Amino acid sequence: MKIYKNYDLSKLNTFGVSANAKFFVEIENEVDLKELFDAPEFLNSQKLFLGGGSNVLFTKDFDGIVVLNKLKGIKILKEDSETVTIRSMGGEMWHDLVTFVVGRGLWGIENLSLIPGTVGAAPMQNIGAYGVELKDVLENVEAFDIGTGEKKIFNRKECEFGYRDSVFKGKFKGKYFITAITLILSKIPKPNLSYKILSEFLEKPARNASHSDAGGNKIEIKSSKDISDAISAIRKSKLPDPKKLGNAGSFFKNVFVEPAEFKKLQKLFPEIPYFEEENEKNGSKASVLIKIPAGWLIEQCGWKGKRLGNVGVHEKQALVLVNYGGARGEEVMALANKIIADVKEKFDLELTPEVNLIR
Ligand SMILES: Cc1cc2nc3c(=O)[nH]c(=O)nc-3n(C[C@H](O)[C@H](O)[C@H](O)COP(=O)(O)OP(=O)(O)OC[C@H]3O[C@@H](n4cnc5c(N)ncnc54)[C@H](O)[C@@H]3O)c2cc1C
Repeated sequence: MKIYKNYDLSKLNTFGVSANAKFFVEIENEVDLKELFDAPEFLNSQKLFLGGGSNVLFTKDFDGIVVLNKLKGIKILKEDSETVTIRSMGGEMWHDLVTFVVGRGLWGIENLSLIPGTVGAAPMQNIGAYGVELKDVLENVEAFDIGTGEKKIFNRKECEFGYRDSVFKGKFKGKYFITAITLILSKIPKPNLSYKILSEFLEKPARNASHSDAGGNKIEIKSSKDISDAISAIRKSKLPDPKKLGNAGSFFKNVFVEPAEFKKLQKLFPEIPYFEEENEKNGSKASVLIKIPAGWLIEQCGWKGKRLGNVGVHEKQALVLVNYGGARGEEVMALANKIIADVKEKFDLELTPEVNLIR
């Protein structure tokens, strides 16, 4: 294990903004981790755990130690007639785990295909897409308590998952290094086609020329891989590839309001899109909340496709802020703050960043 000084992070964040870390280290096994816990550079510094850097914005240099998760390995722990339990180390890339799972004909995370980043970061915001969230299949999270160096296993309830949220993003923020997760996948087909865009794509794949099956015929779902391929094709057509255009996916979270508040908004903006969602608190369903797509709010404020210097709002997806090249984190933040202010003024709604702001 080598601790580097003044390390360039520009290639370790998908926004591609330049920032340096005072100290930097890569963790390849649990022995490295134990050694790190005794290192003065770790003990006496602010700490940041990093995976693929696809959900962070460095607003300036990081005056502490950045710990890059390179813990590798995916293993089948057990199986019965209906399920397979799989443990993946946190430094695996999330999509590699999806490929492993769908390659074995298992169901549960095919809708989460092509989400960038590592397995270890997935519980942080309970990654979600196309009607599925990590919490739907998660058995437990293994993590090191950075205060004591002890390992702790969090069961699903203890993770306190919510919409793009968890205990690791909330009260335990920065307190645990996630080393592995265990998932329970289904052998029994469980296609989730609740998102219209997915069901429509499967009906008419020809609309998307990038799909390998784009012959125009309806796609029959024979395996979870069929859904994984469809999701991958949809995502490629809608979202900018961070390798070509710096971004961190959705910059803001969607907005949730009480039904009464929504009624008032709907009177002012009759065309406002919305979804009714069960409000889950610690696993138990509490009430119904109304979800308003943040992308629509941003678009209504005239930001879609707009550029300010080196940064801008993506032309196809108003939720995604992009770095056209050479942007500093502060410039992205300045743009985000302008958008937040405009949405507040027009709709009296608060946008909150989904991206982790590293200050
Ligand atoms: C094009 C694009 C599309 C995206 N689409 C989606 C989507 O559909 N759904 C979705 O949910 N997200 C999406 N994201 C966001 C992102 O991919 C996920 O949040 C992903 O889980 C981040 O993984 P990462 O390894 O890159 O995390 P990083 O960006 O490295 O870290 C994110 C946060 O997790 C913390 N962290 C990372 N690893 C650990 C660890 N081992 N222990 C403790 N803390 C840790 C970091 O400190 C930071 O606060 C998208 C991003 C991009 C660029």
